[in-house]
Amino acid sequence: MPPITTQQTSSVSVFLRRIALVQYPFAWILLLAHGISAEKVVPALGLLPLTASFLLSGLLLHRDALAAAGSPIQLLSPRNVMCCDFAIAWLQLPLLIFSWISLTDGGYRYDTSQTILGTYGTVFMMVDCGIHFYFALTDVFHILLSPSCECPHCQSVHRRGRGGISLPADEEYTPLQSDVEGQESSREAAMEQV
Ligand SMILES: [Zn+2]
Repeated sequence: MPPITTQQTSSVSVFLRRIALVQYPFAWILLLAHGISAEKVVPALGLLPLTASFLLSGLLLHRDALAAAGSPIQLLSPRNVMCCDFAIAWLQLPLLIFSWISLTDGGYRYDTSQTILGTYGTVFMMVDCGIHFYFALTDVFHILLSPSCECPHCQSVHRRGRGGISLPADEEYTPLQSDVEGQESSREAAMEQV
């Protein structure tokens, strides 16, 4: 199986991360306006995962500039990004369901314009939820379908095992010489077995 970061996948990734970034201010306006006018917590609470999504997308899209500035860019290991995508998606999903229940419930004493406002707000949450599920599930399927893959993503996941979110480690963003040697020696070992 080819590595996950082919030209096509990465351009789709950039496109989806940009959507998550660009829609954020609009989501703020609609969800906040709805929250204030309708005095309801949902769907306005959806701004929490949307903010996390905005930060993650911004960091990923500008990681090269950040790495040059010497910030803690190592936090963005493929494994941590996958965990963040999962967390954001799973936080967004129940909020979406509660929002739909809240928007359709008690319509008789509920202003129609507020329902429309809230519904438009949830569209941003839906898009964002879909984007993060796409990334998280793509990663999971990639790992499941190619157990012996040697791409940076799989290396990062396998190296850390199945614990919680890993701490920053220098080797995760910039592949070190030892990684390349490790790959070569494992390849040699595989050749010898054949
Ligand atoms: Zn891989």
